[in-house]
Amino acid sequence: MARKDLYETLEVPRNASEKEIRGAYRKLARKYHPDVNPNDRAAEMRFKEINAAHEVLSDPEKRKKYDKYGDRWEMADQIEENQRRTSAAGWARQGGGSTVFGGGDAGDFGSIFENLFRRERGGPRGQAAQRRGQDLETPVEASLEEAYRGTVRVLNLQSPEPCKTCGGTGEVAGAICHACEGMGQVTRTRRIEVKVPPGVKTGSRVRVAGEGHPGVNGGPPGDLYLVVTVQPHNRFERKGDDLYVDANVPYYDAVLGGEAEIPTMTGRVALRIPELTQNGRQIRLKGKGMPVLGKADQAGDLFVRVHVQLPEHLSPEERGHFEALRQLQAQRPAGAREGS
Ligand SMILES: [Zn+2]
Repeated sequence: MARKDLYETLEVPRNASEKEIRGAYRKLARKYHPDVNPNDRAAEMRFKEINAAHEVLSDPEKRKKYDKYGDRWEMADQIEENQRRTSAAGWARQGGGSTVFGGGDAGDFGSIFENLFRRERGGPRGQAAQRRGQDLETPVEASLEEAYRGTVRVLNLQSPEPCKTCGGTGEVAGAICHACEGMGQVTRTRRIEVKVPPGVKTGSRVRVAGEGHPGVNGGPPGDLYLVVTVQPHNRFERKGDDLYVDANVPYYDAVLGGEAEIPTMTGRVALRIPELTQNGRQIRLKGKGMPVLGKADQAGDLFVRVHVQLPEHLSPEERGHFEALRQLQAQRPAGAREGS
């Protein structure tokens, strides 16, 4: 397998200046440093490649050899020695000089390598490819009430930007830049307000365009995503856009019909309990659920789960009434009796 081109490893063009190479190395080394990427084998490999590439390309002598001989740059002296000998022999054989021959074998050798590299790289290029910056994610929590109404989150985003004092080189007049301590970058903190729209759910991603990582080689920045977690509520249970709430209804209201006060996201409402409402029955309040994300005019429903409350104490008079009810029940024809 062909080894990766060192310029590509550092994401710089072949004609990059020393300063550009230094800047690219610093940026990549920070990004893939093992301290920043614990237990990440791929990042570790990349970090080693970046260091190896920098070792060669930051040294003008080595870089010159690499430019000429590619991966065989370490054998440059040997190759050139061989060429001198071949040239000398050729010179002797030909018995005279020719301007063509002066660079003859060496030129052929060089162009073979160049052709190989051109094929590997898919053609010569002037500029490293522009790439869009990576997206960033940050978690946010919201209460159910906030998810219902929509809310605003204030984020303090820290992003690196080139140091103005040294122009991103990390050096001023040959000394380390004190403004950025030689990093070539400083951390800028920006305060941004992000609207979290009504209807968000756990897992919803709120996109903030252009607030991700900066682009590479002048490419556009990535986006920032707020990844929402909606906290559980102590009264309402949420399923999609619908809400569920429990309502305790006294047995006499369940039997005879009545009214119960029900909490909704916009306050308490009086709910009519129909006659002979069974325990566990769900009563639907249309449109009283959560708003549908991105559809301002739509909302889920609120389901009221009825829990019929049986008496926990009976006065002698109440007991008498229940006994009378039982008598009545026993006198009804078998087919009409409750529970049969
Ligand atoms: Zn600086």
